[in-house]
Amino acid sequence: MTGPETPDPVVLRAPRLVDGTGAEPVPDAALFVEGGRIAYAGPAAGLPEGAGQLPALDFPGATLLPGLVDAHVHLVASGGPDLAADVPGSEAERTLTAVANARRQLEHGVTLVRDLGAPGAEAVLVGRAVEAGTVAGPRVVASGPAVTMTGGHIPYLGRVTDGVDNMRAAVRANLAMGARCIKVVATGGVLTQGVDPREPAYTQPELDALVDEAHRLGLTVAAHAIGEGGVASALRAGVDSIEHGMFLDEAAIELFLATGARLSATFLAPHGILGGPSVPEWIKARARPAAEAQARSFRAAVAAGVPAVAGTDAGTPDNPHGGGAAREAAFMVDAGLDTLAAVRAATGEAADLLGVADRGVLRQGAAADVLVADGDAATDITALQRPLAVFQDGRRVV
Ligand SMILES: [Zn+2]
Repeated sequence: MTGPETPDPVVLRAPRLVDGTGAEPVPDAALFVEGGRIAYAGPAAGLPEGAGQLPALDFPGATLLPGLVDAHVHLVASGGPDLAADVPGSEAERTLTAVANARRQLEHGVTLVRDLGAPGAEAVLVGRAVEAGTVAGPRVVASGPAVTMTGGHIPYLGRVTDGVDNMRAAVRANLAMGARCIKVVATGGVLTQGVDPREPAYTQPELDALVDEAHRLGLTVAAHAIGEGGVASALRAGVDSIEHGMFLDEAAIELFLATGARLSATFLAPHGILGGPSVPEWIKARARPAAEAQARSFRAAVAAGVPAVAGTDAGTPDNPHGGGAAREAAFMVDAGLDTLAAVRAATGEAADLLGVADRGVLRQGAAADVLVADGDAATDITALQRPLAVFQDGRRVV
């Protein structure tokens, strides 16, 4: 991406640094970046000898943070009122759409995303192009097509699969496509008529087979699950994250804690649907009860110690790509997470879930993906929505 020329090595300075691990902010902070990596992160007084002579970029009033991570996006969709109609019909057009949406994410400080459902390899290919440096965007960990049952949610972003043996075959087909994680649709969905969002989709043996096969092959699993029954089945099968999880009872929260799974609540998804002026009424009617239960479920989960990650479901109705991860973090604070934990949910915690633990944190040796936010992000989560500068692998891109 064409940004201002970035010196290498370079020192970034700001009144504070939040490292993405949940640790207390470092005052009067500096980042020493060399060869795309962080050589030093900490108090400016502790910079290595000679660093004082290097080119420095000063950001008065700002916070140095890791680049943001969005653990749930759909790059092939752009936030139109009807998701099925919003996904372009041809693969070429979907790929171009994904390229444009990836750029929007990066412009808002998002340097890593997990794409959880596309008709084919579109998001996988965008991720490869970003790595090759030919396309501007965040790094992409993509699931390929979501695994969904006949009559289930988002068949147009999925691979329709039924039966225990076919679950294993679907995982292998996605692996062959270049997927680095698997998305399974474990309950009905708000946006698809048919199975009620609160009702389970797959049987326990089907979910067990899918998760076993994915883990055997080194892929993590994200489960779309709205109602308690589907959440519990997915957690029992051993999924790594629950997407949405709007209805959580005590049993579900205990399963989270027992398995170590993360909660990607996607507050922006129902927010977009219910606030979208052109979203059809039948979709809003399905979203309302889920939205009402969501904040209560999230609050209970994080109070019990369930780790949260920021996932926005960007691409769904009135939920365009761009500043979503920052807004999702603000929703989490409104629902009871403290500010530093919300930053961690949108950086280090999510990067770890995505299997990219050397991104999403500001520490020596990590990739220099950096968001410089206007304000004190340690006390004001809305600072994340005001990017002053964005660095990717040490290069300034915004
Ligand atoms: Zn989604």
